[in-house]
Amino acid sequence: MQRLYFVHRFIKAKGIDAFVITSIKNVRYLAGFTGSSAFALVTPDRRFVFTDFRYQEQISKEVEGWDIVIEKGSRIATIKAFAKKLKIKKIGFEASVSYEFYKGLADLKFKLLPGTDIVEKARAKKESGEISKIRAAVERAEKAFLKIKPYVKTGAKEIEIARRLEEQLKKEGCRSIPFEIIVASGANSAMPHARASQKKIEKGDFVIIDWGGEASGYYSDMTRTLLAAGGSSHEKRKIYSIVDDARKKALAVLRAGVGCKAVDAAARVRIKEAGYGDFFGHGTGHGVGLDIHEAPRLSWTSKDKIAEGAVVTVEPGIYLPGVGGVRIEDMALATSNGCEILTSLNRDLEVVG
Ligand code: ZN
Ligand code: ZN
Repeated sequence: MQRLYFVHRFIKAKGIDAFVITSIKNVRYLAGFTGSSAFALVTPDRRFVFTDFRYQEQISKEVEGWDIVIEKGSRIATIKAFAKKLKIKKIGFEASVSYEFYKGLADLKFKLLPGTDIVEKARAKKESGEISKIRAAVERAEKAFLKIKPYVKTGAKEIEIARRLEEQLKKEGCRSIPFEIIVASGANSAMPHARASQKKIEKGDFVIIDWGGEASGYYSDMTRTLLAAGGSSHEKRKIYSIVDDARKKALAVLRAGVGCKAVDAAARVRIKEAGYGDFFGHGTGHGVGLDIHEAPRLSWTSKDKIAEGAVVTVEPGIYLPGVGGVRIEDMALATSNGCEILTSLNRDLEVVG
C-alpha cells in the first residue's frame, strides 16, 4: 500500500512493533474513513482502524483492507488491550498528539518513539485521484468568485461580500468551507490575516479576497486583490505589478526536486529588489489537500524539496501600513519539468466601481 510507505519505513528504521496514527486527516488519507473520530494502528504486517459505535455502519462501508475495531473503552485502554494481544512493546506515535494522550501511552510503559510528519510526507505527493478532487475544489471556488464579483464595489461591506461568497461556495457544491473567508479593504488589506469586518469599501481601496473551495474532502485556496476606483493609484499599481511579478518568478522556479526555499527565494528576491522586502513577512506558499495548510511549506526556513505531484500555493504579498496590501495566490501542481497552474482567474489588476 503506497500511502503507508513512510509508516512502514519508520517502523523498520526504528525497530518498533507498531505505529499509532491519531490525526483524523491522516486516518482518512490512509484508511478512507471520513468520520470525525478514529485512530489507526499499523504493524509490519497488519493494519487496524478504530472508531466508536456511532460510526459502525459508516466505517464498514468506507474502509477496505483494514481490520475494523469498534472501541469500547478509552483510546488508551483499547491500545493497551491490543498491545497485549499483539505483543507490542515498542510503539511509534505521531508527535502531534496531545499531552494527555502521550501521558496515557507513557503510563502503559511502552518504549515510545515519536514520529514527525510521517504520513504528512506521503500526503505531500498527490495521486491522480486526489488531483482531480483538488481541480474540482478549484473550479467550485472560481465559479463562486465570478458570481459574487459584481458585488465587490465601493460601498459594499467586507462581511457582506464574505457571506455572499460563502453561500455561493455552498451552492457550487462545497460541503464545507476550508477557512474563514478574508475580505480586507483599505487599511485592513495591509494585515495579511485580517478578518472580514463591517467596514465598507471606499474609493481607492485595495480589496484582498482570500477564499477556498472543497470537493470530496479536498480543498483549494486562492487570493485575488481588486482595486476600488478613485484616489491616487500610482504606488498601488506599482506594488501590484511587483507582487504579480514575484508570483510569476516563483512559478517559473517551481518543479519537482527543487528546494522549497528556492521557490520562496524567487518571489522574495523580486520583492526585496524592488525595495519592499520588509513588507512581505510570510512564506511564499504551502501544500493544500485534505488540510488547507499542509506539507510542504514554501518558506525561507524550509529544508524540504518539492515532490513530484505536490500541490502548493504561490502567494507573495506586499502589505504597506496606511496604504494597503496586495496578495495574489495561485495553486500549482509540481511536475518533473515545471508546474501546471491549477487556478485560472484573471490576475491583471481589476479596477471595480
Ligand atoms: Zn489563501
Ligand atoms: Zn494560502
